[in-house]
Amino acid sequence: EIDTKNYYSTLDDVKKMAKPLGKFSHKGTFGHAVIAGGSYGSIGAVVLASRAALKTGCGLVSSYVPQCGYQIMQSTVPEALVKTDSADRVISNFAPELLQARSIAVGMGLGRAQQSQEALHQFLKDLDKLDHPPKLLLDADALNILSLHKEWLNLLPSFSILTPHPKELQRLIGEWENDFDKLQKASAWSAKYQQILVIKGANTVIIFPDGQLHFNSTGNPGMATAGAGDVLSGIIGSLLAQGYAPKDAAILGVFLHGLAGDCAAKTIHQKSITASDLIEHLSDAWRYLL
Ligand code: AMP
Ligand code: MG
Repeated sequence: EIDTKNYYSTLDDVKKMAKPLGKFSHKGTFGHAVIAGGSYGSIGAVVLASRAALKTGCGLVSSYVPQCGYQIMQSTVPEALVKTDSADRVISNFAPELLQARSIAVGMGLGRAQQSQEALHQFLKDLDKLDHPPKLLLDADALNILSLHKEWLNLLPSFSILTPHPKELQRLIGEWENDFDKLQKASAWSAKYQQILVIKGANTVIIFPDGQLHFNSTGNPGMATAGAGDVLSGIIGSLLAQGYAPKDAAILGVFLHGLAGDCAAKTIHQKSITASDLIEHLSDAWRYLL
């Protein structure tokens, strides 16, 4: 069924989605998120996503990085479990135990090395064999690799969440003429592959396979800064691990990310906001919701 309506996510809408903490909750209740990515010189992307996932409230984060990322992760995100690839500088094989988590966010800082492309292909084939695969988020070079091998898109579990910025979107769906054309092409793509597209930018829009478009209402241009997208991936991966349905995780995650940016802008000039500041203000953002 096609729902061609457009929606604008407001505080009241997302408040209804947010799940309060139960008194008897334990780590297991809040779920296990895997954050997988990184390459030599880009381990910071996994640091940011892992810290954002923790601040968004999942119970456990496992970070999967090349060996060169081991000490970096352990010293910058002591709360995370760190597992390393057999290769030193890039990911060459996604360990099968990653598939046991409730969510996997993959691609941040991954790079496009041949080995990493093959690793992603094998990972998607392994996922495809599972009856109940973990909920999946794909970002950054995971998207760029899929754009190089479009036939692999058919391996994605349906209702995975893809978070392209404009350049990544263009590689994935091709060129567009204007904004209207972009949304039409993206909607057709989302319906064809049955995937959720989070098109990032000043007015992030989330596109669902049934034709719904949800425009976000939070955020500011201070968020146009390195690593901001990695923070969003960690937030959404965390919500998926907490048991939010992909649709709610996408809408709520994008809203929280923008709201963290707006909270940061109360004390930090927009010129000076960094991705780490977004993470530090996730707590203020949650206060609006719960
Ligand atoms: P990335 O390019 O992957 O680092 O993602 C950039 C992040 O910053 C996305 O979540 C965007 O939605 C956000 N962002 C970029 N520019 C703006 C803007 N002008 N206003 C609000 N958010 C923005
Ligand atoms: Mg990015």
